[in-house]
Amino acid sequence: MAADTQVIVVGAGPVGLMLAGELRLGGAQVVVLERRSTPTTESRASTLHARTMEIFDSRGLLLGLGEPPNEPRGHFGGIPMDLTLPSTRPGQWKVPQFRTEQLLQEWAVALGADVRRSWEVLELTDHGDSVEVTAAHPGGTSRVRGAYLVACDGEDSTVRALTGAEFPGQPTGRELLRADVVGIDIPGRRFERLEHGLAVAARNPEGVTRVMVHEFGGTAQPRTTEPEFGEVVDVWKRVVGEDLSSGKPIWVNSFGDANHQLSAYRTGRVLFAGDAAHQQMPIGGQALNLGLQDAVNLGWKLAIQVRHGSADDLLDSYHDERHAVGERVLANIRAQALLLLGGPEVEPLRTLMAELMTAEPTRATLAGMISGLDVRYPVGEGAHPLLGARLPDLAVTTPEGSASSSTALLRTGRGLLLDFTGDWTASLRLIAEPWADRVSVLSAEWGSGTPPEGTGAVLVRPDGHTAWAESAQAVPLTSALRRWFGPPRHRPEQRHRPEQPSEG
Ligand SMILES: Cc1cc2nc3c(=O)[nH]c(=O)nc-3n(C[C@H](O)[C@H](O)[C@H](O)COP(=O)(O)OP(=O)(O)OC[C@H]3O[C@@H](n4cnc5c(N)ncnc54)[C@H](O)[C@@H]3O)c2cc1C
Repeated sequence: MAADTQVIVVGAGPVGLMLAGELRLGGAQVVVLERRSTPTTESRASTLHARTMEIFDSRGLLLGLGEPPNEPRGHFGGIPMDLTLPSTRPGQWKVPQFRTEQLLQEWAVALGADVRRSWEVLELTDHGDSVEVTAAHPGGTSRVRGAYLVACDGEDSTVRALTGAEFPGQPTGRELLRADVVGIDIPGRRFERLEHGLAVAARNPEGVTRVMVHEFGGTAQPRTTEPEFGEVVDVWKRVVGEDLSSGKPIWVNSFGDANHQLSAYRTGRVLFAGDAAHQQMPIGGQALNLGLQDAVNLGWKLAIQVRHGSADDLLDSYHDERHAVGERVLANIRAQALLLLGGPEVEPLRTLMAELMTAEPTRATLAGMISGLDVRYPVGEGAHPLLGARLPDLAVTTPEGSASSSTALLRTGRGLLLDFTGDWTASLRLIAEPWADRVSVLSAEWGSGTPPEGTGAVLVRPDGHTAWAESAQAVPLTSALRRWFGPPRHRPEQRHRPEQPSEG
């Protein structure tokens, strides 16, 4: 039976919507099935980190965010630190999650994604050559068949349960209670450690105060529903000594330090992204940012797979790259949970960490990890410092001679082959001609900084990461083009082999 669509995405949370937009940008058909009838209005994660902001810029999405407040300060396990690193968008950007979701939904739909709300996936069959789901919706139940399916259905993923995917890790041991409250006027607290617990209070410009509290030594309650506001009031009173009972809660929830990660992000034709692939304590916005970056790593690869039938290697690189990044982020979140929720016994460790964090290399390492700016994928052999790293924003001259930036050029969702010598553009264009529908060849300037020595040309993937650099020499350019962009649309022309750059 023919597939109804090329890719089924289960879940229209931020990750599913980002993925749907990325797939459309890559030219793939996509149907998104979402059980909620309307998007969530909960603020949930409120932080976008520098790398996510750079990615949003590379998709033309920043304008839609307006001018969100920028906060250079962040924390590691509640120990304050400066998060800024060289970037066009350094630091943290404060955007409520519902706003991010609204923006991504508008973008994905404008690009042609078919987002079906009130569709709940109940069953799944992997036929080997396609995947089929049964979904309940207001009109009854329907089957939808796709060449691939991506589960973006959150922390309690239905698809994970249906496929029996292994999800090893630690269950919740400790928890924080949280409430957004109006009608109270209490002092602000940034991860304040008191005798009996940890307290956070921050009032936003609309007059809503977010409080979070953890009582030292308290273990997490098994919960099937969110806590009552009265419980928050009681714990706040015991830990802080203030009375919140006159306030009106507009959102109450709890979250714990559970930490799980799928053993495999891909099983045949089913892939996982976002909270469906990893569960972590939602701290400092890392959960949301990690998931959005999963989607940006996967979207273009899956689009190339369904449109050009590349080898399985490209799709498998999604697991190889993002599982490793997720593992590292989950480890830093666990370390932060210990520092944050531990009682007096962690004080010596906190004191030591605070001192170490005054050293710039330690601060920069932690800031790189939290901001996502230090992600470097294993793209192949070679020691060039740009290989696998994100390409910094560069001045680029288009074929028409107009000035642009490499970030702006990524908005097409195509790969970029950038010539920094000014002499190789024609030769590179000839080599990359069989991939001309997927890769743009342009001459570029490094801007104010100095390029790493010997950087004659780089191949940049649609997610902004460098896949090949000329001076690396280890991998021929045509092999890199084939590996990252699928088979050529026709055989490369043999007659006009250019002298430079070398193919390996
Ligand atoms: C209450 C709450 C508070 C949070 N607070 C913070 C925070 O303060 N800081 C932070 O960093 N992170 C926070 N997070 C985590 C952050 O919101 C997530 O990391 C982020 O939403 C992950 O996005 P996602 O798209 O992977 O999953 P989700 O946002 O969970 O989206 C999954 C979607 O899949 C849909 N779905 C599920 N099952 C099915 C099905 N069978 N069929 C169809 N659709 C289905 C759901 O309705 C949902 O819309 C919070 C999460 C929650 C739930």
